[in-house]
Amino acid sequence: MPLKRPHQHRGVSKHLTANPVFSREPISVPRFKLPHDGIDPDVAYQIIHDELMLDGNARLNLATFVSTWAEPQAQALMAECAEKNMIDKDEYPQTAEVEARCVHMLADLWHAPDPDRAVGCSTTGSSEAAMLAGLALKRRWQHRRRAEGKPADRPNMVMGINVQVCWEKFADYFEVEPRYVPMEGERYCLSAETAVELCDENTIGVVAVLGSTFDGAYEPVAEIAAALDALQERTGIDVPVHVDGASGGMIAPFLDPELPWDFRLPRVASINTSGHKYGLVMPGVGWALWRDAEALPDDLVFHVNYLGGDMPTFALNFSRPGAQVIAQYYNFLRLGFDGYRMVQQTCRDVATRLSAEIAKLGPFTLLTDGSELPVFAFRVSDDIDNFTVFDVSAALRERGWLVPAYTFPEHRTDLAALRVVIRNGFGHDLADLFLEDLRRVLPRLKAQAAPHRNAENAGAFAHGAETKESPRKSGKPAVPAARRAES
Ligand SMILES: *Cc1c(COP(=O)(O)O)cnc(C)c1O
Repeated sequence: MPLKRPHQHRGVSKHLTANPVFSREPISVPRFKLPHDGIDPDVAYQIIHDELMLDGNARLNLATFVSTWAEPQAQALMAECAEKNMIDKDEYPQTAEVEARCVHMLADLWHAPDPDRAVGCSTTGSSEAAMLAGLALKRRWQHRRRAEGKPADRPNMVMGINVQVCWEKFADYFEVEPRYVPMEGERYCLSAETAVELCDENTIGVVAVLGSTFDGAYEPVAEIAAALDALQERTGIDVPVHVDGASGGMIAPFLDPELPWDFRLPRVASINTSGHKYGLVMPGVGWALWRDAEALPDDLVFHVNYLGGDMPTFALNFSRPGAQVIAQYYNFLRLGFDGYRMVQQTCRDVATRLSAEIAKLGPFTLLTDGSELPVFAFRVSDDIDNFTVFDVSAALRERGWLVPAYTFPEHRTDLAALRVVIRNGFGHDLADLFLEDLRRVLPRLKAQAAPHRNAENAGAFAHGAETKESPRKSGKPAVPAARRAES
């Protein structure tokens, strides 16, 4: 945690010592204070390299949506661009050009009515993209309200309780009332009816997620849009939709081309995706796109001088690496539409096969099967009372598998699940090894007299335990773990 203070690391020596093989002479440097003198680069490298061995193995991390593998050529390009600052459009015009090409390609992929009129930008990830898209919705609503001579001081935004934490941050940081639709029974997502019910003249937009970080399910974007069309006909209230396609924005175009979730729906004003998730780039790059210039109020856009011309920018950051944008372009060129389709289809095949095998093991019930996002969630079946999903997560961790277990939010806080994210690089072979390990731990778990771990005492293994320290403001439940564990 970046906000941790060093004195919280009780029991850790205040000094680092280097292996004498590397340093020749004994070396001891302070751990928590800027050292007075420097040390040899090889020794510094070795000290840090050794410490980082304690990090988990990223390829075995089934919790993350974020790419953990890249081709050597992509890595070479990233290293070549490490020193390029994305904001220096004037100095690095070709990097700026490549960013614009990527925006154009995405606008085309997401069926913007006129890709030449779509506007968009790269970001550090979907979180920054969400802030920008949310700001555009808020500003548009404010302009409209003021033009109508109506108050514009109480904006709200409607979304499912399953939204990723970035939307909660947006609402908090930019002072928009978040209206969360709770889960109900076996509905773990936003639905058209529940969304419309919460909308009024102060609603700046509805966020629909493709797909949910909790279970990988797509929210019914077209149904939500249609219900909002009907709302407008009935009441005159015009609420735009933003699609959080952090993952699905790079899955659905390739695997579900018939599914209208994107700019084909006139009500969809903007879309974000994480280039570093199924865009297959290593962290961190995201994308935010608006269907046309009207969807992005011009007074949010800053203009910088670019080769004597005008370069509009919309970003929260200023300086930021250009390498990830280059890597995104590399993937687009290298894979093309059909390459992406094959990669994503393989992920979906692995996910659906693995979920089916897990369902056959006996003690588990699937919540989803990986046929939308290549992500599925499963729980321990109702008739099992001697072990929990937290026990399963801990047992898998013994072999290095990182599978988060977490409790669902309101009104399904009774439900705890495990979630598996299948990414590029996690093929059928690794899935088989995973399955073998899951099979191996089951007899031991089944022999337990009672659960060892639950949401409260799961300790380091429960991503759910993190929520305790971060209660939502205004007495709302803590941020559910799936929203934190997704990246
Ligand atoms: C991962 C994710 C985010 C946040 O994306 P980052 O790229 O990690 O900032 C937002 N929404 C959804 C649905 C996600 O899956």
